[in-house]
Parts: sequence; C-alpha cells; structure tokens
Amino acid sequence: MTQLPDKVLKRLIVPPGTRINLRRDYDPGYTGGLSSRGDAGEQLAEGIERLAEHQDKLYAQNTYALLINLQAMDAAGKDSTIKHVMSGVNPQGVQVKSFKVPSEEELDHDYLWRNFLALPGRGNIGIFNRSYYEEVLVVRVHKEFLERQQLPPGRKTDTIWQRRYEEINNFEKYLSDNGIVVLKIFLNVSKETQKKRFLERIDEPEKNWKFSATDVLERRYWEQYMDAYEEMFNHTSTPWAPWYIVPADHKWFTRLAVVSIINAMLGRLDLAYPEVSPEKKEALMQARRMLEDEERDPAPPDRKKKKRKR
Ligand code: ATP
Ligand code: MG
Repeated sequence: MTQLPDKVLKRLIVPPGTRINLRRDYDPGYTGGLSSRGDAGEQLAEGIERLAEHQDKLYAQNTYALLINLQAMDAAGKDSTIKHVMSGVNPQGVQVKSFKVPSEEELDHDYLWRNFLALPGRGNIGIFNRSYYEEVLVVRVHKEFLERQQLPPGRKTDTIWQRRYEEINNFEKYLSDNGIVVLKIFLNVSKETQKKRFLERIDEPEKNWKFSATDVLERRYWEQYMDAYEEMFNHTSTPWAPWYIVPADHKWFTRLAVVSIINAMLGRLDLAYPEVSPEKKEALMQARRMLEDEERDPAPPDRKKKKRKR
C-alpha cells in the first residue's frame, strides 16, 4: 500500500458544510492504527516516490498548479514536514513561501496581495508556510495587528471575520476554477507536545536557533487560537478547497498523512504527459535520422563546400 487508506484520510478532512469540534473530534496523537515509525517507513518512502511521479506529469502537462497552505501552532513540525515530504520532487517545480508579520509595504496593500504574488505557476507546487489564514487567526487573537491595517473607517468591526471567510472562500473558488488546486493542511499538535519540543529546542544546542522566547509567550493564548482555528475550519472548508486536520504529535504519522493527502488530491486530477501530435512525431523522426547520419557524415553542408574550394 502506497498511502493511508481512504477511511483514515476521511477522518482527517473537515467535511464542508458541517460544524466540527476541534478539541473533541481531532486527536493530535491519532496514528490511524499504525503503532510505530517502523510501520510507516516503507509507506512513506513509497508515497514520496509516488509524489515525484505525479509532480513530473503536473510539470510536463503545465495545466494545473497545486497550492498547499500549511498552518499550525509553533513546533508542530511545518518545516520538517516540508523537508521530508518534498524530498523526492524536482526542486525546479516546487516553491516554498513563508509568510511572517507583514512589512510596511505589505500593509499598504490588501491582505491577499502578497499571497497573490507568491502563487505557483501552472505545472508547479507552491507551499505557503503560513498564509492568508493568519488574517483570521493571529490577527483575530491579537487585535493590535488589525489596528495596524489601513482599512477604511467602519471596516474593523466584529463582522470582519465573517467577511474575511467569505473573501477567502471566493478567492479559493477563483483559483480552483482557474486550475490552481488549493489544499489546506493544519498540523494539529497538542499543547503538551509543544512544550516537550520547546524544551528540546532549549536543551539541545543544535536546536537553539529554532527557539524564540516569544514562542513561550504566544503559548499563553493557546485556547484563543484553538477557538479561532475551529471557527475558521467551520467557515472555510469548502468542496473546492477542503481543510485537513493532520495529527502532529507523532512526526512519522504527520509526514505519511501529508504525503497521502497530496497524492490523493493529485490522483484525482487528470494528470498526463502531453500528447505528441503527428507533426511533432514526424519532427522527432527527422531529428533521429539526422543524428544517425551524423556518424557517417559529421560536417555541415557549407563547411564541406569551403573545404573543396581550398
Ligand atoms: P514559524 O513560526 O512559521 O515556524 P519563524 O519562527 O521562522 O516561522 P516568525 O518570525 O515566528 O518565523 O514568523 C512567523 C510569525 O508571523 C508568526 O507568529 C505568525 O503569526 C506571524 N504572521 C504571519 N502572517 C501574519 C499576518 N498576516 N499578520 C500578523 N502576523 C502574521
Ligand atoms: Mg515562529
């Protein structure tokens, strides 16, 4: 088996049009019946290979693009998931964009602007490491971010979140209608596992660089974040761009689940190498004949003439 069974993937999706309860329905420690890293190793390797095959066709066909929005609390494993899941694909066809606190220039534009600029072109996979979804998460939890945004008067009201959900749904519908397939993945880490990983970052010198003291402060807003996430899932998981909530307490399962979700999505597209037209086939044959003739007669015609003159 190259990927997780459909019934496991079904448990991870947020069904469009329903209300989920994040804390009750999605266990960060779930492993789909697998018991250890060893169980998942071979499946992960196969999944990575399968993804490389899909990507080769996606690139050659040059019709669709895949946008993967990755969201998570700190230390859920976004970076290492990208590193492992994408380890087999051709780097030419994948771009990763990390979205941080917006700059002055970015704040001078509407909130989707910087995301638009980073969208993957046809044939490519684009990974947003955080995305426009921060606009209904961190900006909602910390209202001072909203204060900094240069919105017209009357726009910073309590209805702004509902409006943003609608704007995002419309934006993603527009993308999917135009061949940019949108996949949204939340890495669901528990508060206890986050603490364990922060402690490792503090205690292990090679991990010190990953740790920022502000991450510990942000952790105090855990419940507010969970509320904002839940509300976001319930408004923005759509038939054209569904959310997946991937358990993130066991990194080996996270990677297997993410590669399986991507492969399932790409498997549903009609990916194929472009058909070769009869004219193109004839041109290929002609090129083949020229290459074969080269061995018998390597000099170009005008060079032969010059030789004779001398
Ligand atoms: P990460 O935390 O994603 O692993 P990092 O630690 O390298 O990456 P940070 O400097 O922490 O980078 O940048 C990410 C921070 O930027 C997050 O705290 C996130 O909430 C914040 N951010 C992203 N987009 C926005 C936004 N639109 N408005 C306000 N803050 C944002
Ligand atoms: Mg950070």
